[in-house]
Amino acid sequence: MKAVGIDLGTTNSEVAIVENGQVRVLPGEDGDLILPSCVGFSDTGKLLVGREALRQYAAAPERTVKSIKRWMGTDHKTTLGDKEYLPHEVSAIILRALKQRAENVLGETITQAVITVPAYFTDAQRQATKTAGEIAGLEVLQIINEPTAAALAYDLRSQETEKVVVYDLGGGTFDVSVVEITGEVTEVFASHGNNRLGGDDFDRLLQLHLVDLFRKQHGVDVPDDAATQARLLRAAEQLKIDLSSHAFATVREAFLGSKGKTALHLETEVARTDFEKLIRPLLQETLEAIDRALTDANLEANDIDRIILVGGSTRIPLVQEMIAKHLGQTPTDGIQPDLCVALGAALQAGVLVGESVDAILVDVIPHSLGIAAAVPTAMGIMPGYFSVIIPRNSVVPVSRSHVYSTLFDEQNAVEIEVFQGENAIAEENVPLGSFRVENLPPQPAGSIQVEVHFDFDLNGILTVTTTEKSKGQQGTLIVNNAGIQKLSSHELKQARADLEALFESDESVARSGVKRSIRTAVSIWLTPYSA
Ligand code: AMP
Repeated sequence: MKAVGIDLGTTNSEVAIVENGQVRVLPGEDGDLILPSCVGFSDTGKLLVGREALRQYAAAPERTVKSIKRWMGTDHKTTLGDKEYLPHEVSAIILRALKQRAENVLGETITQAVITVPAYFTDAQRQATKTAGEIAGLEVLQIINEPTAAALAYDLRSQETEKVVVYDLGGGTFDVSVVEITGEVTEVFASHGNNRLGGDDFDRLLQLHLVDLFRKQHGVDVPDDAATQARLLRAAEQLKIDLSSHAFATVREAFLGSKGKTALHLETEVARTDFEKLIRPLLQETLEAIDRALTDANLEANDIDRIILVGGSTRIPLVQEMIAKHLGQTPTDGIQPDLCVALGAALQAGVLVGESVDAILVDVIPHSLGIAAAVPTAMGIMPGYFSVIIPRNSVVPVSRSHVYSTLFDEQNAVEIEVFQGENAIAEENVPLGSFRVENLPPQPAGSIQVEVHFDFDLNGILTVTTTEKSKGQQGTLIVNNAGIQKLSSHELKQARADLEALFESDESVARSGVKRSIRTAVSIWLTPYSA
């Protein structure tokens, strides 16, 4: 008998299973691994769950509900159409849809599940979750804490005791837990959070920013009707997601408003740094919550062995940077932050029904990927160095970009030479291809910025795109078979530690100089193209 693991989230939910020793998240008919935790009825009375329900949320809030998890364990009633529902009844609809999803993929009936809840959930909230499972036709084998599940996904075979900070920033909620893991036992020492803080707030801040930009561009306001604002909010979320992997991103929304008889469009570019300014104060609050949790656990930052990131919003680079700086160590990655709770729950379900489970395997890039660039060293500016854009052992799929500038006055072309390898000298690595960006406007050295974007997909295909900032000129290179390797999360941790040790033991001026400058991407110049 198979048992599934379910992450029943405030914004999104997932279902995962162990099969043949491997754990995986199960997709819906649309191929999506994530099911938005949203329920509604269409205008003809058809039940909608997930993305379909979410789509009608702005237009038909009286027939749609989201974030029901905030009400679990209370007798708050939600009216959907002509009927009232208790929170656990709405949750049961989501769980039923996940059960159905699993049955469709696996071709068999599923009757048992492990379901996760936040560490701070009270008994009443846990009981309501269990009841929801039972209404959905699932025997709930166990209710486990979300940070515990996340830790399980990372720590399957670890027998040492580790103290871990689990930082969970989702769509609508934030919590941080300090846990201690020994083998299969996870103890929650302290947990703090804010169940009104998450990615939705970042979307709203960006939405207001777009409203301002529109006003500046056209001298009139974006219409204040629900449909237009909903469109803007969706555009803001997409912009936010794009800015996680790009230094700049463009929003294009046609016919957003009008002035007299003229239709007005919003077309604007937003820099990641502008977005970061908007969200920094909110992220600062999350750092304070970490400190409170550490104090409650009687621990200090340097007692922590590992930081695990959970929740879609932890994909934002600034989130990772601020945590790393605050706690003095880089968070562990390897498992997708929005899936690791479901994976951990499935592992626990597998263990409970006696499945033998291997470590979670993740696809990583075996060699660093980057371009040749000129960097500052102790001996002056040196061309031909290898500027890493995606470091070795990054988990696939991955997108990263760096911004480079021109080295000389009136430089009118740059050569983008792509390499794979670990040597600080570009030429010593494996060349993957090159292309040229030409006709750059004549400008003083350093004032033309070119964003170089690397996109590495699940099939091992690397797409390199360059965008010249002022003219928006683009260039592209596609490299097939750039290679993928499978590592377990423990092998990955070891491989990364080995690589770090290698760098730390190498004291040579050139190498440490390069390493430092690679971290400050803005001061790297593109080598001019010379025919
Ligand atoms: P979760 O509740 O963990 O599924 O997280 C959902 C939140 O993560 C939503 O606010 C999403 O907009 C956000 N999110 C998902 N992917 C990204 C990304 N690549 N960058 C920034 N936020 C993201």
